[in-house]
Amino acid sequence: MSEPVTGVRALLRPDLQGRTPYGAPQLDVPVALNTNESSYPVPDAVVQTIVERVGEVAASLNRYPDREFTRLRTELAAYLTRTTGPVLSADQLWAGNGSNEVLSHLVQAFGGPGRTALGFTPSYSMHPIITRSLGTEWVDGLRGSADGLFDLDVDRAVEQARTTDPNLVFLTSPNNPTGTALSLDVVAAVYDAAPHAVIVVDEAYAEFARPGTPSATTLLAGRDRLVVTRTMSKAFAFAGVRLGYLAADAQLTELLRLVRLPYHLSAVTQAVALAALEHADLMLGMVEAIKTERDRLVDGALSLGLRPVPSDANFVLVGGFVDAPRTWQALLEEGVLVRDVGIPHHLRITAGTPQETDAVLAALASVGGSDR
Ligand code: PMP
Repeated sequence: MSEPVTGVRALLRPDLQGRTPYGAPQLDVPVALNTNESSYPVPDAVVQTIVERVGEVAASLNRYPDREFTRLRTELAAYLTRTTGPVLSADQLWAGNGSNEVLSHLVQAFGGPGRTALGFTPSYSMHPIITRSLGTEWVDGLRGSADGLFDLDVDRAVEQARTTDPNLVFLTSPNNPTGTALSLDVVAAVYDAAPHAVIVVDEAYAEFARPGTPSATTLLAGRDRLVVTRTMSKAFAFAGVRLGYLAADAQLTELLRLVRLPYHLSAVTQAVALAALEHADLMLGMVEAIKTERDRLVDGALSLGLRPVPSDANFVLVGGFVDAPRTWQALLEEGVLVRDVGIPHHLRITAGTPQETDAVLAALASVGGSDR
């Protein structure tokens, strides 16, 4: 029998009783490859610009920041236009403290009690957490894993979208934790199959995709229920700043003003994000190097008899462990922190520096744990 709920716990909303919070361990270890951050520090030239720009706004921190973050939206629109193709305008852009906040704005605006969001598991663990915390029902759709690669095939996705008839659909491309990007055919087909839904394509890792993987921003024209979310936390190597954003039809972004808290992006955040966007090429400078390390992780895992899943991201999901939690612990004892995402026999490893790849492959070789 479970313990009776007492004290302040008894006052918690009934639908949150028994839920667990997001909890990636934050441990001080020599090799931290568990949250898909960049292992590379912010380049000196960018640090200098950040210090200057923060200096410029410091004296006016007595005032609230630009609630509309207009310059930031303009620069983010220019960045997406330059890197993904379609011409986007500032009124199509929205931002928040991390893409988690942007996702939360979407669920606040389009979900809520009596409404449903559909996602395809395994995917980003915060999608159901944000959804449920806002009183929205979560429907755990399934990715096809018959081939063991966790791809989401179009028929399977369409069928689940039709039967659920949701108010929101989450598609993650490249998918976390499995790593592969989604074909745009799936996005377009799910859009048509869920006519009452806002379709969110979470592209947190898009800059790491293998060549020939277009962004879902190329589908935005003529689809006013489609949203593409992005973040500066991954390829932009700026996780500490907390800046996520989205592109969508201007009418949709307008609606998000109904749910955001006033002045949600601080003047410091806006100034720092703008400083980094001035140096976008430098900030993205390590992307190719990280992709090389990702591919080395795949090859290294294969040669250890493990089963890495192909990846378009800055991490690799590796299968083939007899007992993944045990290997996770053994790696930690070697000073290497990776992620146990709860998929039996699998661990997720972020691609970092060449030295970190060497360290994680050496640790894997020494702890063993492969089922072959
Ligand atoms: N989407 C996906 C798929 C992620 O993996 C993450 C971070 N792990 C996020 C969104 C959120 O990132 P942030 O809030 O740092 O932008």
